[in-house]
Amino acid sequence: MPTDHAYQQCIHPDCGATFSVDEVHVACPQCGSLLDVRYNWDRLVTPKWDMFEYRWMTKGEHGKGALDFSGVWRFRELMPFYHKYEDVVTIGEGRTNLQDARKLARHIGHTPGKFHLQYEGLNPTGSFKDNGMTAAFTHANMVGADKVACASTGNTSASLAMFADMAGFKGVVFIGSGKIAYGKLSQALDYGALTLQVQGDFDACLRRVKQIAVEIPQLGIYLMNSVNPFRLEGQKAIMFRVLEARGWNVPDWIIVPGGNLGNCSAFGKAFMELKELGLIDRVPRLAVIQATGANPLYTLFEKRGLRWNGGRWDKDMRNALYAEYDDQGIRAHTIASAIEIGRPVNLSKALRALDYMDGVVREVDDETILEHKAMVGRYGFGCEPASAASVAGAHMLIDEGIINKDDDVVCILTGHQLKDPDATVKYHTGIDMKAIQEQAPHTEPHGKLSNTPVPVADDLTAIVEALGGDPSLVTAALR
Ligand SMILES: *Cc1c(COP(=O)(O)O)cnc(C)c1O
Ligand SMILES: [Zn+2]
Repeated sequence: MPTDHAYQQCIHPDCGATFSVDEVHVACPQCGSLLDVRYNWDRLVTPKWDMFEYRWMTKGEHGKGALDFSGVWRFRELMPFYHKYEDVVTIGEGRTNLQDARKLARHIGHTPGKFHLQYEGLNPTGSFKDNGMTAAFTHANMVGADKVACASTGNTSASLAMFADMAGFKGVVFIGSGKIAYGKLSQALDYGALTLQVQGDFDACLRRVKQIAVEIPQLGIYLMNSVNPFRLEGQKAIMFRVLEARGWNVPDWIIVPGGNLGNCSAFGKAFMELKELGLIDRVPRLAVIQATGANPLYTLFEKRGLRWNGGRWDKDMRNALYAEYDDQGIRAHTIASAIEIGRPVNLSKALRALDYMDGVVREVDDETILEHKAMVGRYGFGCEPASAASVAGAHMLIDEGIINKDDDVVCILTGHQLKDPDATVKYHTGIDMKAIQEQAPHTEPHGKLSNTPVPVADDLTAIVEALGGDPSLVTAALR
């Protein structure tokens, strides 16, 4: 059944090619730009805020209970790309809350009652990634995929592995060697995903998994990284819940850590659509916070003046920065492993979000991130290092006077405190659990369900073999 009210569209203004939602693309086949999922809103029920509120208190009407229970799908009229309810893959994601962090506000010099933390660590796998995964799995289900894969700094793999396991897909995750927090690795293994530990960093893993998904279609692998526009549809729901918790009052600031820049991009799209639909009358400002050791957006936007420019942004400026990284051997490096990314795939959409939301970008160093992580732990439910970058960035913008003392601020806490216990233990005790684990003798796993990570070289043929594929699929052109 074709869906005529939803389609995919290239975001480049000089192209704008459109594709059916039943097609699978990781980029525009015509010009290589990213794709959006778009809607013909005039052919749909016009959403109203009061449609959403009652749903999570009811058991759901007409067998739609599972959708109503989800903190993503209860906003389904704002992401109606699926054909029928049965397409939707949901495990009760997105039931998260907005905390009025009064003590923390006082501690960083802001007005109590004006500083809120959105706890996305309360998702089933402990990070915001579940918001996007439910949507991407729904699309994978629509197009009949059965194998899904991602490159991951950890949380995407944990989320993919759980959804794959629950919904009957074969899950494959590509993680960089020694780059992943233990809590996240343990999830991927427990949920039974084939875990390929590639000798390289996140950027290398993403390049490989894209090659596998796009250039070797015989392997039948559906790509779950945030170049997948359907994932970002689900992540819009984080903003819908923030607004709902605030009685549909728009805050002054949304502050979010930036790695691959999918989340900030999704937020920008959410506000563009809410404004277009007349559900809000103003748009909050956006602050994207990066780690000093993984700061391409900060460098490009704040230092070199790169702008969205109506979609005709200066690709040469980006390429020049990446060439500098290569020449000088610079690799992303930060304690906040979830944002340890040097070449963010959603750069263009992030520029669009910054443009629409009058945004700013800041960088914070690892020590500052860890101090703010400890503050979030002391005065709230806790978070992982990358998440604390948002609070550290808020603190910096308050000190700079860019955030005014009585502005309404919402910081997104992207991941749960237990994701990276090593970083927390080291901060509080000085004991380096990672170093201890590396020295400890390894024994063979002997559980009946042991699912050991498979070490593999950063090499396409080796990866295809590890996936059980025929190495002759790797043609000379690909190598
Ligand atoms: C993925 C992730 C981020 C980065 O989000 P992007 O969409 O890649 O910018 C930040 N924090 C945590 C905990 C994450 O898992
Ligand atoms: Zn295009």
